[in-house]
Amino acid sequence: MTITVDTAKLPTLLTALRLPTVGRLWPDFCARADKEGWPAARLLAALAELELAEREQRRIQRHLAEARLPPGKTLDTFDFALVPSLGKARIMALAEGDAWLGSGHNLLAFGPPGAGKSHAAAGLGHELVRRGYRVLFTRTTDIVQRLQAARQALNLAQEIARLDRFDLLILDDLSYARKDQAETSVLFELISARYERRSIMITANQPFSGWDAVFPDKAMTVAAIDRLVHHATILEMNVESYRRRAALAAATSISDTVRDIDPVTASETEKET
Ligand code: ADP
Ligand code: MG
Repeated sequence: MTITVDTAKLPTLLTALRLPTVGRLWPDFCARADKEGWPAARLLAALAELELAEREQRRIQRHLAEARLPPGKTLDTFDFALVPSLGKARIMALAEGDAWLGSGHNLLAFGPPGAGKSHAAAGLGHELVRRGYRVLFTRTTDIVQRLQAARQALNLAQEIARLDRFDLLILDDLSYARKDQAETSVLFELISARYERRSIMITANQPFSGWDAVFPDKAMTVAAIDRLVHHATILEMNVESYRRRAALAAATSISDTVRDIDPVTASETEKET
């Protein structure tokens, strides 16, 4: 077989092969290889390696976009000192993924509003995506609505199966999904479908008490909890609200500032007004 080599066709060929990095880099690399007399195999290996590295980066970017993680809420910006019960080392170990995601192990984060549950969950999500896992962060009410719509369209099973592509579903604020919204047995079906296969992380204000308000009846609440906790790590975050703490700190620093104002200036200001 004879192959006619037409280098002018190279850009088209590389596009057809979906090799955008090689497509961008080959003119420079080939020029350098010609000039410096690289062996052909070295040129080929260099281009292949760069294509692979960039492909990995593109994949992570795609997975970060589909994860819908709240921006800026990473583990880097999370102050672990404020939540001693969490343990930075434990969270960093969970951020590795590996064993627990492979076996459909769950994470349940409990704590009052403002304790940092959503931030910690999102931070974990970010890390896991960077390590190559697929994650979806969603408010529980949003996913319940989405699944209810699917049920009405008679494709709940397909919709739940579509969520299988995510190694981890983060259901934020379970406590705010209420059965009076409509019937939320869809949530139970999601939990059952993922049981022992795919992981779920839940954040909630109360550990289990009050979950009756989320599922249609007591028996279903018990069954849902049973499946969730069977293989689960519980993260207790019983700390004062970060928002409240920040607001108090701000208020204190304002009163300090007011106290620090030079009394002469302050009284002059008073006269003027
Ligand atoms: P929760 O979900 O428990 O109600 P959030 O995670 O939404 O609380 O936290 C409330 C706000 O406080 C967010 O802006 C979050 O980024 C911030 N926050 C909470 N805990 C921490 C923390 N330990 N370090 C840094 N920021 C925090
Ligand atoms: Mg929250």
